[in-house]
Amino acid sequence: MSKYSIGVDLGGTNLRIAAVDEQGKLLEKITLGTQVALGRDRVVHDMCDAIQRTEQNLKGTGQLLGIGIGVPGIIDMETGMVRTSPNLPDWANYPVLAEIENRLGTRVILENDANSAAFGEHWLGAAKDYPDVAMLTLGTGVGGGLVMGGRIWRGMTGMAGEFGHTTVEPEGAPCGCGNRGCLESYASATAVVRMAREAIATGAKGLARAAHENAEFSAKAIYNLAIQGDEDARKIFRRVGSAIGITLSNMVNGLNLPIYVIGGGVSSAWEAFAPSIFEELWERSMVYAATSPEPSNGKGASAKVQSLGKKRTIVTRALLGSDAGLYGAARLPLVEAD
Ligand SMILES: [Zn+2]
Repeated sequence: MSKYSIGVDLGGTNLRIAAVDEQGKLLEKITLGTQVALGRDRVVHDMCDAIQRTEQNLKGTGQLLGIGIGVPGIIDMETGMVRTSPNLPDWANYPVLAEIENRLGTRVILENDANSAAFGEHWLGAAKDYPDVAMLTLGTGVGGGLVMGGRIWRGMTGMAGEFGHTTVEPEGAPCGCGNRGCLESYASATAVVRMAREAIATGAKGLARAAHENAEFSAKAIYNLAIQGDEDARKIFRRVGSAIGITLSNMVNGLNLPIYVIGGGVSSAWEAFAPSIFEELWERSMVYAATSPEPSNGKGASAKVQSLGKKRTIVTRALLGSDAGLYGAARLPLVEAD
């Protein structure tokens, strides 16, 4: 009998459940809306119900090894509690792991959603052929995850990888975490819309028109304007790229990993912000300058050191799209069972 696991991606909007076998083949998938407004008991009930239905559908065909759940927010691995989660406000200090394990009678592994996404990309996506990877997920917020030697790097309490809350602008825009000038305040979908509204206030006409025409003035609408050549919209994505580039420069200098993957919804604007990422990397990171796969602009750090040797630092887009976190969560029980 084959073995499989169930991965859950618990987002602020969608609740997705997938059964995946040991090779990463998708066996079953359920997508539901996350009923955040109805409270955490309802969300946990919906999740457990979908997990049980999946298990029932696969009865007799495989052995369930466990359940992995990717949750947005800071998770305390020791207590199995969500410490803080902006998208699931009533989940703070709620013993979610114990609650789900009680209901299902199965082993459950809780993980931060960006760590899960990094694990998914490491298993089946852009970082498949690498032992180590760091990932940034650009969504409503900015998440981060690290995989080292094939395992998620969790740190002391499971809170490692919060690159979204590293400072890129000392006196910058306030962030939901309490700090100012976090990467999240410049590279999330929320930040793109905020910067567009700021630009409108100082006279950006194309953006003002788009905001007026679209009831839902989203990061995607601003990206559409950027690819049509609107200079104010393009400038916003250059700011996004520059903030990511500053963070990556610090990460590359500190970690010297072979690959850094950028995912999440905003990463579909890659063409608009990626050039600014590389400009910052060449100028700010001597480790990147020494290992860049592309010719540099010859400024800053790249004026001091040339890229030589076979080992190069890769910075690239994610491959699995919104499924990265789902596959990564499903991978958790497979690896822990080794
Ligand atoms: Zn922050």
